[in-house]
Order: sequence, then C-alpha cells, then structure tokens
Amino acid sequence: MRFLFAILSLFIAFSTSAQTKKSTSVSSSTISRPKLVVGIVVDQMRWDYLYRFNERFAADGGFKRFLNQGFTCENTLIPYLPTITACGHTCAYTGSVPAIHGIVANEWFDPQKGRKVYCAEDSSVSAVGFAAGTAGAMSPFNMKVTTVCDELRMATNFRSKTIGVAIKDRGAILPAGHAANAAYWYDGKSGNWITSTYYTNDLPKWVKDYNASKPVDKFYQKGWNTLYPINTYVQSTADDKPYEGKPLGSDQKGFPYDLKKFIGKNYGAISSTPFGNTMTREMAEAAVVNEQLGADGITDFLAVSFSSPDYIGHAFGPNSIELEDNYLRLDKELGSLFSFLDAKVGKGQYMVFLTADHAVAHVPGFMTENKLPGGRSAGSRWAKELGTILQDKFGAAGLIRNYSNHQVFLNHHIIDSMKLDEAAIKRTVIRYLNQQPEVFKVFALEEVMQAPLNKTLREMAVNGYNQKLSGDIQVMLQSNYMEGGSTGTTHSSWNPYDAHIPLLFYGWNIKHGKTNRETYMTDIAPTVAALLHIQMPSGSVGKVIEEVVK
Ligand code: ZN
Ligand code: ZN
Repeated sequence: MRFLFAILSLFIAFSTSAQTKKSTSVSSSTISRPKLVVGIVVDQMRWDYLYRFNERFAADGGFKRFLNQGFTCENTLIPYLPTITACGHTCAYTGSVPAIHGIVANEWFDPQKGRKVYCAEDSSVSAVGFAAGTAGAMSPFNMKVTTVCDELRMATNFRSKTIGVAIKDRGAILPAGHAANAAYWYDGKSGNWITSTYYTNDLPKWVKDYNASKPVDKFYQKGWNTLYPINTYVQSTADDKPYEGKPLGSDQKGFPYDLKKFIGKNYGAISSTPFGNTMTREMAEAAVVNEQLGADGITDFLAVSFSSPDYIGHAFGPNSIELEDNYLRLDKELGSLFSFLDAKVGKGQYMVFLTADHAVAHVPGFMTENKLPGGRSAGSRWAKELGTILQDKFGAAGLIRNYSNHQVFLNHHIIDSMKLDEAAIKRTVIRYLNQQPEVFKVFALEEVMQAPLNKTLREMAVNGYNQKLSGDIQVMLQSNYMEGGSTGTTHSSWNPYDAHIPLLFYGWNIKHGKTNRETYMTDIAPTVAALLHIQMPSGSVGKVIEEVVK
C-alpha cells in the first residue's frame, strides 16, 4: 500500500511537473517585442573611431552607452562592392547585396535605359513640401527586395508604424522600405524637410511647424567652433591642411567657421557641419512624439541616418579636427537621443542598433605626407585613351560606352552590329588598365569566378555584380588610391578602411557583451528580424548573429 502510494505520488509529481513545464513553454512562446526599434546609420563611420576617440566620449554619451551596456560586433565587414551610401543603407536593412537588391551604386549607368539612374529616383511621384524640381521625386522603387521595416509592417498586418529620417533622401527612403508610413529628408535649396507623393500628398502639421521654425538659421547663428579648446585635439592633424576640401567656402581657413553668412542664402551648407546631426535628431524626436512611435503595444520602427559625418569626412578626412569634433558632438547627440527615448518610450522598452553604410579612406595627401601608400587615379582619362586605342585596333568609335563606379561598359550595339571580337576587345581593355600603376586588379565581370582573386575579394565582386546593371569590366585600385579630385577623400573599395564598420546593439533584450568573430553587414537585418520574431527580408543572404539574440 505504502509502495503504491509512493508510485502514485511520484506519478502525480511527474505529471504536475510536466504540466508546469508545459505552461512555462506556453508562456515563453508568447512573443515579446520592444515598443520601438531605432535603427541608426552613421553615414561614413570607421569602426576604429569607437576607440580612437573613446577617451573623449562622454560618460552619458551614446557610444559609451553602447559599449558599456550594449553588445558590440567588433569585426563587421561589408561583403560586396562598391562600399557606398545607397548600397550600405540597403544592405543593412535588407540583409542583401547589390547583385540581388538592385541598388548597385548611388547613381549608375543603366545599359538597357542607356542613361544614368539615381538610386531613389521615381518619375511617377513628385515632391511634397518644396515647390518644384526633381529634388523630391523619390521612392524606394529601384530596390527590388523588402527591408526589415517592410517585414515588420507585414508581420503586424500593417499595424506597426515605420518612419525614415535623414538629410540624404536615400538614407531615409531605402531603410524605411516600400511599405513605410513615411520618409522625410532635407532639401538644401529650401531649407525644408520634405517627402514625396509616394508617401503622402501633404506634409503633416508637425513637419510644417518644424520647417516654419527655420531651424537652419538658428544653427547658422551659432557658427561652428570646436567643442573643446582646439589644442586639446591631440588625435588629429593641425587644422587647415592644403589637402582638405573647403565645403564652407574657400575664404574660411579652419576653425572657427562663420556660418552666419549662409543665413537666407545657402541652406545646403548645414550638411557639412555637426548641426546637420542636431537637426536630424530633432526631426527623429519630433517623429516619435507626433506619430506616437513606441506608444502602444505594437512595435514601431524609426530608421534614422546621420548624413553629416559623410559630408564632413569627405571634405576634411578621418584625421582632421573637423572630423574629431563631429564625432565628439555626434556622441552627445546620441546621448540626448537615448535620454529622450528613456523618458518617452521607457528604459528597456526600445531597442537600438547602430552601424555605418561604409567607412572611409584617409586623404591621399595625408598618406603621402606621412610616407604611407596612397594616391589618386584618373578613370576619365583612361576611358578616353581606351576609346582611341580600341578605335585604332577594331575600327569603331565609341566602343567604351561608359566608365563609372570602377566599371567599364562596352558598347554592345556596335560590337554586335559590326560583328567585332568581344573577347579581344575585353582583353585589350584589361591589358591597358592593368598597365596603369594605380590599378591593382582588373577582370571581366562575366568571368569573375576565373579571375585570380583572393576569396574575400571574389565574394565582394560577385555580390556586387548585378547581371542587369553592372558593366563588363571591373577595376580595383591599389590600396588607398581613389579616383579624381585634388582634396578630400572617399570610399567605395574592398579594403578594410572602407569595409570595416561598427555594429552596436543596445536596450530591450540586449545583453552586455561583444564578439570578435567576423560578422557581416548582411547579418544585421536577419538579426533584427530574429529579435523581433518576424520573417527576414525577401533578398536576405545574411545569418543571424546568435551572440546578440541569446
Ligand atoms: Zn554614405
Ligand atoms: Zn560618402
């Protein structure tokens, strides 16, 4: 009897525990999501800035909050060519690559259309919030896949709100995606934040009010001086180097920059100052308040891109006081954005990630000054010379149809109609370009799998090769070489200085930690999708970063 009782109680205990387990598994399968996701792209940020300027980042700033409380993926690389703005914003939000998503550059030569195409152009829509012109005729039409914002909209049967904000149209439009509720960008002619009829026929009152407050004049009044005494900028070279660009006028010789002269005259200049970031943060916060983002139980998505670091970086370069000052100020902007979100949405109720659309090379002049390799090349001269060489050899003019984004487009109409030897033409082009000292590799894109390339380079070339939109021959320049110009710098290459970007997560369900494992820009969207329990975007080829999701 006692034995039977023991068996019976064991059975009861077992079934109770089984029941407990069952109910636990039921409750844990009730999905939990943050009230708001904030995606931040810093337009042109090298990963090493996190550490180069670390000592001077504020205790209550954004970067230390990410590094001390969030999760950092220290070795995040861009896995495609070219490493530029439109491709970067698209990749971070789609987990996809130009070969698939169709955004092969900021602007590209379309061989079928026979003309240049801008990544966000859409002639079927028009500007809203600004008188006329093509400045606002923009939409995500050219992007052939969904973004993680689109997937969130679909996962909630379009009850989630998703909004994109950036000075650059492409920085707002591409991340927010096709099903976005809104995207706002800045028009440098009028000084207004605008949108297009793709989203709405009239700007919401809060955007009109913000525009009416003339925010840019307010910033121009202040001028741009360094945040701290200029002699404390020990991580940067002396101010006003001859190899720096002059986006604020050739009359201005370094700090302090007078911006008052732009009031009522030049609304584009703000983009090349840290006030572009302040204005973007103000717009982002106004969107949260006025569109009630994160106010209910249905997750919303705010996609913000800070464009000014790119303008400042291009002109002055990674080693300038302007750039250091911009990052010390951006750190503070991010700190205020976090405090705002803590108060408005609630600490632990929102999730933020931060990455960059690409990094940047040092200015060639800076490299030369310091006995480091680097220089400038002349693609337009090459295209011209090649045209003559091909004409002499094959008896036809105009065989080079276009040279852009480090790709040569041959004129297939002429080759076909004159029955010319295409393989011989390609060989001639490759031989000529390979003789240029600034060129590192040159190969026919159709034969990329046979080209003598390192595994990483091959993968980047393949991921960037879009059969419909790419050229015939790909050129890769020597390390730290770039096309054109005499001042400033740029990005687009495979090299780590362009391709190694920060990737940081913070907030809801994000544990403190880091990984040094190699991760990729394509992993961002699937990781965010996994955190939200939604489908990954339609062109995604990335992998979930498990360390972040754990
Ligand atoms: Zn960019
Ligand atoms: Zn750029």
